[in-house]
Amino acid sequence: MDEIRIENLEVYAGHGVYEEENRKGQTFFVNVIMYTDVKEAGSRDELSLSTNYGEVCHKIHTCLRENTFQLIEAVAEFTAEQILLAFPLIQALSLEIRKPDAPVGLPFESVSVKICRGWKKAYLAVGSNMGEKAAYIKEAVEKLVQNPKIRKVCMSELLVTKPYGGVEQDDFLNGAIELETLYTPMELLEFLQQTEAEAGRERLVHWGPRTLDLDILFYEDVVSDVPRLMIPHPDMQNREFVLKPLAELCPYYRHPLTGKAVMQMLKELTEKNENFDLGV
Ligand code: ADP
Ligand code: MG
Repeated sequence: MDEIRIENLEVYAGHGVYEEENRKGQTFFVNVIMYTDVKEAGSRDELSLSTNYGEVCHKIHTCLRENTFQLIEAVAEFTAEQILLAFPLIQALSLEIRKPDAPVGLPFESVSVKICRGWKKAYLAVGSNMGEKAAYIKEAVEKLVQNPKIRKVCMSELLVTKPYGGVEQDDFLNGAIELETLYTPMELLEFLQQTEAEAGRERLVHWGPRTLDLDILFYEDVVSDVPRLMIPHPDMQNREFVLKPLAELCPYYRHPLTGKAVMQMLKELTEKNENFDLGV
């Protein structure tokens, strides 16, 4: 991806662990690499199609001047997020906060923290089989759309499916959702679980009836195998009600472990089910 760089923007600000640093302040230098597509702006010579680096400089200046953090880690985290929220054409960035006058008591050139942050693509499964199912799902999508740390939300068609897992219960309404987010996988899970709780979801029976179920299917090509968060979702290849709506959104998206495209997983599952029905 193309880059726009800002080098050694100088800001006098009061971040530090010591009270005196907060009071007196010192010089900070900020380096940013913004990953963005500048092709169209370049071809048409049109600023409105790119990111105004002057505005980014002022945003950084404001972030550092109007806040007091103890750690340059926190300065970096806050500033990176503010830039990503304010300048939507920036897909990702690398941001370095340098503090040459840090009170170390030994001769040294400078200390710095450098982080990489950006919008990450994720796919979710959504399901409901209690009460006003479509309304629960619609409300959940609304909450995703309204969260500033989530964007480009795209919803599949909803599918009516028979319950899974052997518990006697009402039919399900299922769908898949595509989005981009600034959340880490664990933060995204926490937001989804909070949304489930707000829909009155109670975890009574495993695989039992629920007003709202939101699962993470993919998060970029991240693999996580702790029980609290399994990504890619470990049972997705066995669930037609997951793969069908997902294939509508991203037929060619590949499972990071098996390398199989969503469309291929769906085809294999459909064939397996047909053979099973035929008693093969
Ligand atoms: P299920 O979705 O399997 O029907 P629940 O919604 O009750 O079950 O979730 C049970 C637990 O699964 C949650 O507490 C959550 O921490 C964990 N979990 C593991 N991986 C994921 C994932 N990819 N998406 C959502 N929850 C997950
Ligand atoms: Mg779940």
